[in-house]
Amino acid sequence: MPNLLEGTKQHKAAPGLPSSEIFDLRQGSFFIFPYKNDQTRTVRLERVIFRSSGIIGRGTMVIRVMCACCNCPPNRCDWKEKKLVLKMGFPSTTRISERMFMDRCKELAQGEHAWVLNHLPNIIWSFDIPFRDDSPQDNFKKKFVDDHEMRVGMRGVILEELKPLSSLKTAKERAQVFYDIVQCHHWVREYLRILHRDISQGNIMVREKNGKKYGVLNDWDLAIWLDDKRDGPTSQFRTGTKPYMAHEQHSSKWKGPHRYRHDLESIFYVMLLLVCLYSRPDEKLRRPRTEGDRYEEWHQRDDEFLYDKKHHAVTAAATWKPPVTAFFSGFVLWLITLQRSIRRGFYEFGDATQLGPKALNPEMHYVDEETLGGHLSYEKVISIVHLFEEEELETRGREWQLHLENLRQNRVD
Ligand SMILES: [Zn+2]
Repeated sequence: MPNLLEGTKQHKAAPGLPSSEIFDLRQGSFFIFPYKNDQTRTVRLERVIFRSSGIIGRGTMVIRVMCACCNCPPNRCDWKEKKLVLKMGFPSTTRISERMFMDRCKELAQGEHAWVLNHLPNIIWSFDIPFRDDSPQDNFKKKFVDDHEMRVGMRGVILEELKPLSSLKTAKERAQVFYDIVQCHHWVREYLRILHRDISQGNIMVREKNGKKYGVLNDWDLAIWLDDKRDGPTSQFRTGTKPYMAHEQHSSKWKGPHRYRHDLESIFYVMLLLVCLYSRPDEKLRRPRTEGDRYEEWHQRDDEFLYDKKHHAVTAAATWKPPVTAFFSGFVLWLITLQRSIRRGFYEFGDATQLGPKALNPEMHYVDEETLGGHLSYEKVISIVHLFEEEELETRGREWQLHLENLRQNRVD
């Protein structure tokens, strides 16, 4: 158990680190934090990669760091070969740490399951620095943490650096990354009963390893254990990143629970926005082409607006066609097929926030609500996204390889 107070004191004394504003972390300054066996470790801060504008309690800031090697034996730094980032946040006391989720994944990802580690963040170290009355963190808390949740203090996580989606060069690479995300999401839910709950463009990253690229489902800060009974009606069920949240979550009538199909609906919106708003992986459209689908507004508007637009997107008639840019034209078929299936699900099962056919058909409660009667399930989504422009993408796990072989076999028979 690291000595946290010691860590805090050391932190205050860190050279170049302003004591009044913990987040005014300048490039080139040093950051000291608790490490193994009551030791501390020091990193040098490099570039800020991400800084959230909103709420404390989420992954608030991500900074590229390098080991300062203060305590490393000469020429034997165990972090030397790694590109690292420091993620800092202010999680609530009730929140399970991302590291605990990832440790469980690592334990289970052996043998034929080892593939999934390519698609999960690699947490090298994590630490908490508790709030104290006279600490700079406490000033920070008074200034920014205005909700009523208890916070553990500052939580820092040292992670292997990943690349953003914009680093990809082709539409097919992006398709593979989306397919990877679905497979990873399935594995973690199926084998560990963990639900991610915050699918967004920013949480889908890329890992390059031995010349190959892998989609990584990043940032498990809002994940939950599905079987944790404490996480009942009192826990926050309306979570996520607004432009990508499932449409039901924008309705005040929606009372949860957050199901895995809501995350699949989020993946649909991430795809939709990316391939309609970008003319190339790293180039945003200057002027969106159609007046009807102004997806750029999804990043600025409120729940009512988003509910309307998304409800339309997933329930519009069979003629629905997204304004996909030429570069991403291969995604048209994916989006249309996915939309048809989701639409059928809502039509047959009814929208939890509307009086749908469910209200008229009392037998409908036998339909699997988890997947809208199978219309928004892993099987359905994978049957659509394992092919891109008629080419097979890489299916990572043995389980889905067998599933797809069976599907092909049945088609041939
Ligand atoms: Zn070092």
